[in-house]
Amino acid sequence: MTMDTPAGPGRERADFVREIVAEDLRSGKHQTVVTRFPPEPNGYLHIGHAKSICLNFGIAKEFGGRCHLRFDDTNPTKEEQEYIDAIETDVRWLGFDWGEHLYHASDYFEQLYEWAVHLVRAGKAYVDDLSADEIREHRGTLTEPGRNSPYRDRPVEENLDLFTRMRKGEFPDGARVLRAKIDMASGNINLRDPVVYRILHATHPRTGDAWCIYPTYDFAHGQSDAIEGITHSICTLEFEDHRPLYDWFIENLPVPSRPRQYEFARLNLSYTVLSKRFLLKLVNDGRVRGWDDPRMPTISGIRRRGFPAEGVRDFAALIGVARNNGVVDVAMLEHCVRDVLNRRARRRFAVLRPLRVVIENYPEGQLEELDAVNNPEDASAGTRKVSFSRELWIEREDFLEDPPKKFYRLAPGREVRLRYAYFVTCREVVKNAAGEVVELRCTYDPATRGGDAPDGRRPKATLHWLSAANAVPAEARLYEHLFTRPDPGVEGDLLADINPESEEVVDGCLVEPSLAAAPVGETVQFERLGYFCPDPDSRPGHPVFNRTLTLKDTWVRIQAKGQQNE
Ligand code: ATP
Ligand code: MG
Repeated sequence: MTMDTPAGPGRERADFVREIVAEDLRSGKHQTVVTRFPPEPNGYLHIGHAKSICLNFGIAKEFGGRCHLRFDDTNPTKEEQEYIDAIETDVRWLGFDWGEHLYHASDYFEQLYEWAVHLVRAGKAYVDDLSADEIREHRGTLTEPGRNSPYRDRPVEENLDLFTRMRKGEFPDGARVLRAKIDMASGNINLRDPVVYRILHATHPRTGDAWCIYPTYDFAHGQSDAIEGITHSICTLEFEDHRPLYDWFIENLPVPSRPRQYEFARLNLSYTVLSKRFLLKLVNDGRVRGWDDPRMPTISGIRRRGFPAEGVRDFAALIGVARNNGVVDVAMLEHCVRDVLNRRARRRFAVLRPLRVVIENYPEGQLEELDAVNNPEDASAGTRKVSFSRELWIEREDFLEDPPKKFYRLAPGREVRLRYAYFVTCREVVKNAAGEVVELRCTYDPATRGGDAPDGRRPKATLHWLSAANAVPAEARLYEHLFTRPDPGVEGDLLADINPESEEVVDGCLVEPSLAAAPVGETVQFERLGYFCPDPDSRPGHPVFNRTLTLKDTWVRIQAKGQQNE
């Protein structure tokens, strides 16, 4: 697997698409730039779409033009209103706005039909009675030319009659198609008389039962661009071979404008599968909690996971836009997200796996309020009060009865700092009948209030903690990559590469009282544990937190290694 080399920190570097746009504006070829994002509403958007959204809407914004949101809704058997709604939500969440420019390919069905008739009249399209299989057989291969259909030379009048009757619903699905008459011997298979219309007796989410023939993607796309006055129709590289066909339609139809298509490399991410079809399968098979499962690479998934939109936009800017396909390390996306969260997220205390601590020399029933910093990266975030009392919770893994050499946290006889509070020393370990540690008896030094000792002594570890008096029970869901390998599916079976440990549910966690009703959408940092955000599954008295990311930034390490090797 090739890894894209990391780009510099600059945002929206001049890429080849932006250069073309800038030149077209400079030369006066276009007065204003008009782009579009054209999703097919047959699933939820994923992070690959985010790259395309940031590119199309970003260019419009930077060059003072506009970007349309256009639903490419030409296949009613797979499209649903749920997807349309989710796509609008996701584009808005990413921070982009299409204003009044919301369109649907289905808005143009009548016009597209007229243009198809125009081709028929011009002798440039014909109704073909071959079956789908026969058409495939006639198409030829990359090395062999195709063969003409026996119906290719039907007279114009007969074609007009048949096409009109196709529209009227006289024929069953698959009985006939309308094909453009181009060149069955073309070296480009897309030009071997491509299908323009097919019969589909299906109810469309927007046009209902008005139509029983639907245009193909190739026929609808460029013409929709032309109707909307799109100047730069930007798509992914797999459409490069379709460009001659895109241009053929534009040249052979009385369209109101002449858009041009440009292709860029699609985003591929390590440990990730970006294919709506496969993601739909995961949802349908119940492998995940839905399209918005926090492990999904969908925009709704990463939003539920707690990724800020700004981090996604930074990522899009960092990877840039090029024409060479590669795989981007998912650690780079995570790095961009951590970077934003480190600056923005409020710090809070939470204990995932609690161990009880009793401070023997602290007065029974006393509760003290101590000042804790909300965000060391942002003084304006201020401070909050955290309560300290005789009974506390600490993280179970912050104590070891027999500490190995480099373990500096709590151990019998050892003193550590409780952040923003006091130094405490472990005096005694209490175990249950099974020999498990269930409680630590400690003492505290009242002179270290706030976390500093007058005599200057400094414990080697600082722990997070909670007061047992008011800690709130919570559930935490810890997420890892959805796949066990960076290149899922290379051995043929994507499902076999799913990480069975991609989600760990930890119940019996404890959080600060202020988090009892934290709003969904606000990601906080649980000190020393990672970034977490409230999940919509939270109920009163039972908050649920998703681990957005741990605090370990692997991208920084990968980058440092790369530089060493240079
Ligand atoms: P998928 O392959 O995941 O099913 P798609 O290409 O069928 O996606 P569309 O709804 O047709 O999905 O895509 C809308 C736009 O998003 C297209 O312009 C497409 O080129 C772009 N796009 C889709 N996937 C990616 C990706 N991985 N990277 C960049 N752009 C993408
Ligand atoms: Mg597509």
